[in-house]
Amino acid sequence: MLSIQALTVGPLQENCYLLTDTQTQKAVLVDPGDEAERIIAAVNGFSLTAVWLTHAHFDHVGALSAVHRHFPVPVYLHPDDRELFAHAAQSAAFFGLVLEQPDLEPTPLTHGQTLTLGEHEATCLFTPGHAPGHMAFYLPEHGFVLAGDALFQGSVGRTDLPGGDHAQLLASIRRELLTLPDETRVLPGHGPETTVGTERRANPFLR
Ligand SMILES: [Zn+2]
Ligand SMILES: [Zn+2]
Repeated sequence: MLSIQALTVGPLQENCYLLTDTQTQKAVLVDPGDEAERIIAAVNGFSLTAVWLTHAHFDHVGALSAVHRHFPVPVYLHPDDRELFAHAAQSAAFFGLVLEQPDLEPTPLTHGQTLTLGEHEATCLFTPGHAPGHMAFYLPEHGFVLAGDALFQGSVGRTDLPGGDHAQLLASIRRELLTLPDETRVLPGHGPETTVGTERRANPFLR
């Protein structure tokens, strides 16, 4: 069985997700944004196999250095977000926040690539616009998508940050997310979960 735990962390209330496979006791972390000790404590007892990053904004990678020191596992990121990744600490400082710059080489992701956790599979969906290398992770057998900061309940990601592009974001959402089944759970990078059907019907940004 696959279970998902959301840990809402840091001043920007970012949702870090811990996926655990109860059969193999393996785990994956998505977007360890802050509060490293809390995240590490949540992982304890499982064998962490990877970190999947939806994108490299500082609120999604803030705990990465400490987490990676504790669990030196591969960190997956789309190459188009390398630039943001390299300047994470600098971007945090711009917002008056302190972040330990991750000193590691991310493993590149491509659109359509499959990531695994035990027997479970996630498909990488390239969804740029909020960030140039933004990825969503879709687990079709489990009916949910980790949507990062592309799509939120009643909203979409901001595009006024470097590398943001509103038209590109809307196109990404329409192409990769709204084409998923209505009942697909959307687990966003901030705020409460929603479904593809709800957002297709009611999201004011997608009319
Ligand atoms: Zn972001
Ligand atoms: Zn964010």
